[in-house]
Amino acid sequence: MQSSLALDSDESQPGPELVTTLAVVPAGPEQWPLIRMLEVVRDRVDSIHAGQRTLTAEVREIRASLPQQRKPLSKRSQEVHIRATWARRNGLCPCCQETPVCDATGRLEGAEYDHWYGRNQNRITQTWLVCSACNQRLNDTDFKAAARSAFEAYQQALRPFSSGRQMAFPLVG
Ligand SMILES: [Zn+2]
Repeated sequence: MQSSLALDSDESQPGPELVTTLAVVPAGPEQWPLIRMLEVVRDRVDSIHAGQRTLTAEVREIRASLPQQRKPLSKRSQEVHIRATWARRNGLCPCCQETPVCDATGRLEGAEYDHWYGRNQNRITQTWLVCSACNQRLNDTDFKAAARSAFEAYQQALRPFSSGRQMAFPLVG
């Protein structure tokens, strides 16, 4: 037990007299119960804090090891992508610029929303509507690196569509 150290280091604890007493002169018998009580309390608080630190570290580890949940895009995000891809990419996959992924009425069969930054990042600015071949190949690090500029260019083109003003425009029209 290191009774005096903890009290010394804590400014909010009892005034200088008690600290001096603890550190230098053995306390009189009448003070022992209080000192022991403080020691017990301090030890318990210390052990609770240690337990909390352990728990926090464990929870962090568990979180990190969990598979990320694939978050689907909101209906609004999907519509914005379709509208932007139709208007700015003629409905072609913004990744390969070849395969049609949507038309004026909506997403085409096989086209998929790719989560560029990770399965649980589903905002408009983190996703795009691509053909199934590109969606597959985007799992490949090299392909993805090569596609980055296309993704960024698409995001640039998308910007006016994702702002609030544009939402008044109907999808089909
Ligand atoms: Zn494609």
